[in-house]
Amino acid sequence: MIPLVRPCLPTELTDRLRDHTDHLRSRSVTVTAARRRWKNATAERSALRARLQPMAAGIERCMYCGDSLGTAIDHFEPIKLAPLRAFDWLNHFLACDYCNSNAKRAEYPCDPLTGACLLVDPSIEDPGDHLQLILSTGRYRARTAKGEATIRTFRLDRWQLERARQDGFQRCQDMLRGYARLLTRGEHQRAHGQAQALLRQPHADVLYAMVRVLDSPGAAVILDGDILEILRTGFAVPIPWSGASGRTSVTSDD
Ligand SMILES: [Zn+2]
Repeated sequence: MIPLVRPCLPTELTDRLRDHTDHLRSRSVTVTAARRRWKNATAERSALRARLQPMAAGIERCMYCGDSLGTAIDHFEPIKLAPLRAFDWLNHFLACDYCNSNAKRAEYPCDPLTGACLLVDPSIEDPGDHLQLILSTGRYRARTAKGEATIRTFRLDRWQLERARQDGFQRCQDMLRGYARLLTRGEHQRAHGQAQALLRQPHADVLYAMVRVLDSPGAAVILDGDILEILRTGFAVPIPWSGASGRTSVTSDD
């Protein structure tokens, strides 16, 4: 999971979403009515999807696992629990079929004392503050109770994801070294293409974890010296989510 920047919606779409919510509220909303209205709002769902796609990492990856294509709009707070949030833009994420239908489903764990949601919302907080990705194993370790609930709810400990993150770590290092070699040879255009390909890789959380570790005392233990050097000084292409770790916040230029 990586930090995501949620764009503002056009006024016209915001108004349409508000109309749906007002309609539901005026009818003493039920879960069934909210689901039906959401299902029938084809144009709004299509417009929302178009806004979510560029917000996702890489090529429209699931905003939770980062592995598969995000094919569905997930309600972070499920319609079952909050029917009035069916058309709430802040409640919408792009999720893959597995995360949406098999992992999270209608789960929404909350703190029993405070009632606060225990899931990391990557559009309003830095997942790295709650989840630590161990690059060598591809496993997530919880830093907080919220991190623990997030791993459990989204099943971020699936062995397939862990294996894919391990592979992703190897691939990121290979691509960074390839990028540096191209730069050394003066092949700037190819190097730029390599960098863009790196940013489009699935499991963006791997590159994000590598960037986050740069300023930590153990960086030299976790990353090889040449990789540290490339990421610290030799990578000229902005990394979209690097601002979350206190580094320069920029957006991808492709
Ligand atoms: Zn997923």
